[in-house]
Amino acid sequence: MTPRSICAVCCVLCCLLLLAACNEIPIEQSPIELPENVQSEQGSEQTPAPEQSTQKQTAEETDSAPQTEAPKQTEAATTAPPATGKPAPASGIVTPGEKGYTYPEMEEDLALLQETYGEHFTYESIGKSVDGREIYACVVGNPEAPRKIMITGGIHGREYLGSLVVMKQIEHYLSGYDTGSFGGMRYAQMFEDFAFIVLPMINPDGVMLALCGIESVQTPEVRQTLEKIFADNTREGLTSAEHINDYFAYNWKSNANGVDLNRNFALSNWADVKTGILSPCFRNYKGPRAASEPETQAVSAYVQSLGEIEGMLAFHTAGQVVYWDCGVKGAVRQETFDLAQAVCEHTGYKFIYDEHLDASLNDWMTLDLGIPTVTVELASVIYPMPTSEFDAAWEQARELWVIAAQFFGE
Ligand SMILES: [Zn+2]
Repeated sequence: MTPRSICAVCCVLCCLLLLAACNEIPIEQSPIELPENVQSEQGSEQTPAPEQSTQKQTAEETDSAPQTEAPKQTEAATTAPPATGKPAPASGIVTPGEKGYTYPEMEEDLALLQETYGEHFTYESIGKSVDGREIYACVVGNPEAPRKIMITGGIHGREYLGSLVVMKQIEHYLSGYDTGSFGGMRYAQMFEDFAFIVLPMINPDGVMLALCGIESVQTPEVRQTLEKIFADNTREGLTSAEHINDYFAYNWKSNANGVDLNRNFALSNWADVKTGILSPCFRNYKGPRAASEPETQAVSAYVQSLGEIEGMLAFHTAGQVVYWDCGVKGAVRQETFDLAQAVCEHTGYKFIYDEHLDASLNDWMTLDLGIPTVTVELASVIYPMPTSEFDAAWEQARELWVIAAQFFGE
């Protein structure tokens, strides 16, 4: 293309992206071209969503169906504008990469964060993924603080924006540790009361497949598994992508065994969870048995080793909505409701009931462990996430640790 035609194309793309960002174009008409059969996850799914939920099909439609209408009870929802505060730093350690935010970029940033802010930051591997990558857990603040709040991201491959935002939150609070504040709460005070336990990328193989395709695979057996899943999904009509990397780039949420980790947690009634997908797939396959996957096992064991946890925010994309509920009853229900409401008030995101059982990390923590959790769906468009989405997501999510600390501190 000539420079002029490139310029024209850029201009058109920019305008379309801007319109989409302003919600003037419905999500499903996002200008980002996706392969025919994979544009909408609902459209690519053979089996209809389980009958149990009337509010949304499955928690993972959360990621692609932000147009889901909230039920009547959403009087609680707020339309408050996104919070304003200090502008995001123009640069820093954690920044969007060329492709989004890859596992090596996160590893490099973790090392730099420790080098720069080691006084208040530690991280460790809590286990390995199917393809041999580390699953990292970070402690931000004083590990001896009396209470713990958990933050997670990147459990779904294509939702790497969540990993980026969570990593940026770590840097934000570390860089402002002694001097920063929000909403009348000094960060230093917050860290006296709370340690933040952060799992920034629970599914590193999935993130790498979504961003870098089959070439990212490290072991021949895993490559064979993934090629078979692609062939099977093609035969089953779940994808029409011609090249395996198109299949990964627009769809991939699972781990490298084709198991959706956010369907694999050992919920006490895991056997009752219905996702509509019965074999390895780019999404929604819950696995051959509860907690069958090494990533699930590592996260479960780590969570159980932590003792009491006040609550957990799980960052996903997209939709600018907050999911809560999972059918929880009793006192934890009220606390979860109030937490979701606090997050909605701060971000301006839509408040959505989700009573469907998914065997997600959230379901397991809330239903089996009694910990309030909410799912924060960042960003307004479907993947692949333009870098422009980061700024808005960051603005909305930056102070959510303070919001959580204020909530649990009351
Ligand atoms: Zn997700």
